[in-house]
Amino acid sequence: MTTETAPLTLFNSLTRRAEPFVPVHPGEARVYSCGPTVYNYPHIGNMRAYVFADILGRTLSFKGYKLTHVINITDVGHLTDDADAGEDKLEKAAKASAQSIWDIARHYTEAYWADIRALNIRQPAEWSIATDYVPAMIEFASGIADKHCYELPSGLYFDVSTVADYGRLARAATDEGEGRIEQVDGKRHQADFAIWRKTPEGEKRQMEWDSPWGRGAPGWHLECSVMSGKLLGFPFDIHTGGIDHREIHHPNEIAQNQAHCCTNGLDDAANSGARIWMHNNFLVERSGKMSKSSGEFLRLQLLIDKGYHPLAYRMMCLQAHYRSELEFSWEGLAAALTRLKRLVMVVKQLRERAGDESSAQAGTKFRPLLDRFDVAMSDDLNTPVALTVLEEVAALKKVDPSEKLAALATMDAVLGLGLVDIERTDLRIRPKAATITEAEIEATLLARKEARAAKDFARSDALRDELAAQGVDVMDGDPLGWEWKLG
Ligand code: AMP
Ligand code: ZN
Repeated sequence: MTTETAPLTLFNSLTRRAEPFVPVHPGEARVYSCGPTVYNYPHIGNMRAYVFADILGRTLSFKGYKLTHVINITDVGHLTDDADAGEDKLEKAAKASAQSIWDIARHYTEAYWADIRALNIRQPAEWSIATDYVPAMIEFASGIADKHCYELPSGLYFDVSTVADYGRLARAATDEGEGRIEQVDGKRHQADFAIWRKTPEGEKRQMEWDSPWGRGAPGWHLECSVMSGKLLGFPFDIHTGGIDHREIHHPNEIAQNQAHCCTNGLDDAANSGARIWMHNNFLVERSGKMSKSSGEFLRLQLLIDKGYHPLAYRMMCLQAHYRSELEFSWEGLAAALTRLKRLVMVVKQLRERAGDESSAQAGTKFRPLLDRFDVAMSDDLNTPVALTVLEEVAALKKVDPSEKLAALATMDAVLGLGLVDIERTDLRIRPKAATITEAEIEATLLARKEARAAKDFARSDALRDELAAQGVDVMDGDPLGWEWKLG
């Protein structure tokens, strides 16, 4: 990358300001992202959170920081309500199926990882699994129990009045407090939350452990404090999650971190655990298909089954700033796919022209554009602007093809659209339900070409109709050179 890079600024939800990134450990960036609760498939909204975390990680690498990224897998503790009401999501899913909790967790973790790969999200340094850290959670809770917690018949609770400025993150987000909190008998304050949930008398949970507060399971917020602190060290640089976490989960994590880190006063910003708290806005879908409880909910696999390349969804995410709400629509996805296709076409042509020189560096001609790209990404990850700069490079004429390719590859290393790796034909819309094969389509198109050459237009039209009847749309003169599409 360029030597004089733009200063990186990131929006900190805790202070509600864009702040310069100053690493805790010079030259390093340590990032923790709240991972999925693996009781069901992730929907594409969940995956937006990881595309965002990936863009953050790639940008930090691009800026020269040595990145350590941790994403957790929540396989215990997350109740059907983010506060202390309802059942454990995994216990509930296990009851509704013939599988054990462990099998359910494994199945949905694998499905999530498949989506991670399909979206070209880089592997973090560590996938931390919550159930691997239960002894560490008990140790952490024991350390803060005396000063900050109290016991009730249902478990050990954190007293939020024992830390300074509880809920600052939530107030910063909504200006109205800590969000929806369920009442539990005996809680001292409404916002107090469970650190340890005792298994009720006479019940047996599939997942339970012995603790100083009885047999039971950890509260959900505890795991992230413990895993982030253990794996990255307090304070670390950046903590990410979706905006819903600003209301309950992250304020509670911060309170635990304050209690744990407290040395000389609770109100030191460093004691929040992470210096910067970043949150992606939601992907929304007006008809409610984002909800995992609705029948055909929007999984990445559904997009793939309908014939879309998963990276079209990544492109869709990058077209919006991560702090803006993004509305999903099939038209929007199709438009993102076309945008991706155009870029892949350019790269393909450049690869053919550049030949063996494709390992060249981008020359000085590209410097101003690379600098503008850097400025956009350094401005709180402004991917919509960065994409337009990438397209300016793609549109440049009369430049050395291998240098142009190098400039595009440098930018794509940050955006992760896979421009150099995917083939043009991978992007064809090809629904799973289609039965006609590509070879059959090509053979019919060849016959049609021959008919047209022989001026047998009746046969050429008949062949076109034959393809249309099987869902193949023939696109004569398509500027992208696509020639046909399915579905
Ligand atoms: P969960 O599996 O429910 O714990 O959520 C995983 C991640 O997805 C969390 O960071 C959530 O904040 C985030 N998230 C949930 N719904 C959406 C959505 N519709 N759009 C963007 N992010 C979301
Ligand atoms: Zn978390």
